[in-house]
Amino acid sequence: MLSLRIASVRVKNASEFLGGCLIREGGGVSSPRRLVLAIFVDAFGWELARRIPFLDDVLVHKAPLQTVCGYSSTCDPTILTGVAPRQHGHFSFFVYDPPRSPFRPLRALGLLPSAVADRARVRSWISRGVGALLGWNGYFQLYNVPWNCLPMMDYIEKKDIYFPGGILGGQKTVFDPLRERGIPFSLSDWRRPEVENLSRLKNDVSQGNIALGWLFLASLDAVLHDHGTTGAAVVDRLRWYEERLREILEIARSRYDEVRVHVFSDHGMTDVTSTCDLMSQVQSTGLRFGHDYAAVYDSTMARFWYLKDGAGLRIEAVLAGAKGGRMLDQRQLQEWGVDFPGQRYGHRFWLADPGVLIVPSHMGLKPIPGMHGYAPDDKDSIAFYGTSTIDAPRPIGLADLKGVVLSELGL
Ligand SMILES: [Zn+2]
Repeated sequence: MLSLRIASVRVKNASEFLGGCLIREGGGVSSPRRLVLAIFVDAFGWELARRIPFLDDVLVHKAPLQTVCGYSSTCDPTILTGVAPRQHGHFSFFVYDPPRSPFRPLRALGLLPSAVADRARVRSWISRGVGALLGWNGYFQLYNVPWNCLPMMDYIEKKDIYFPGGILGGQKTVFDPLRERGIPFSLSDWRRPEVENLSRLKNDVSQGNIALGWLFLASLDAVLHDHGTTGAAVVDRLRWYEERLREILEIARSRYDEVRVHVFSDHGMTDVTSTCDLMSQVQSTGLRFGHDYAAVYDSTMARFWYLKDGAGLRIEAVLAGAKGGRMLDQRQLQEWGVDFPGQRYGHRFWLADPGVLIVPSHMGLKPIPGMHGYAPDDKDSIAFYGTSTIDAPRPIGLADLKGVVLSELGL
């Protein structure tokens, strides 16, 4: 998945949580004197952070942060809930599940000429319309899943994971304890442009009432997908972030006694060096999609469901010989926390080697310079953590961030 959650974070109307004051024990009402800033920079990996200076005078501690196997659709729920993917249930967007597919009415769109129905902009419009029609408030994109496959697929992120009840496994997110206690916080809206979310945080910090400012910066991910990790645009974007964040920090320090900064990412980015047409290799078996097997081809991972006896053997013979990736066994899935109950995401996963892009895939038809979603322990996959604090708990992986933020808030 291009984790192009185009704008920033996720709350329809962040002001519903703002404008209040902390009610302290003893009945007194006062503004919080400590501000915790949680700054989520999408795809700002450890390798990038090691190479490019970023808020070096502010972040006294910088370290690698273990990511999880998957895309932002997997990483973000782990950051928010502090649990492994197998527990929160979010992984990739599409799964083979015909009885639950909401896409059956879209079958007719497959009759339109591909030049019309498969244009990126047309798919984007249709995605927006379908999401609205179905009453979904989650991040939804049809990407390039073929029209004739969609009626067999279910979509995972129907609800906004930043809202209460948005996590499939029912876990509370880092924001729920604040909501329950009426503690005011600022939260970017992932539907809105990044500049708007920066302005929102700046404004909320100026008021001096919030205890937590959670900022989501999404555009670096898009820059890295488009330019790779060595593009000049990457440095430019980080410089621009630095300037905006320094403005916010200056205001924060004038309003609060203590400002504690935590910067983190969900994953890194890998430069794409080659492509693999896995789809054609699987199709060469002569097996029929939807009859003998089903598959979802993500950008770096393909997942297969075996519908007829013998299909698995024939597909796995192809997967075993396919260059540029490997089949994942149960032990590996378990170790990475992506062994989902009931094999919800497929009977067999094939993962591309770092730098290899599956083209075509259901996520895109052309190669792009940068991608993520490779083995989580590969150096370019590793995420980043940096903080201004010397006494806060240090996170090892994404699942620790929730605990760090809550501990900083005394919760
Ligand atoms: Zn991405």
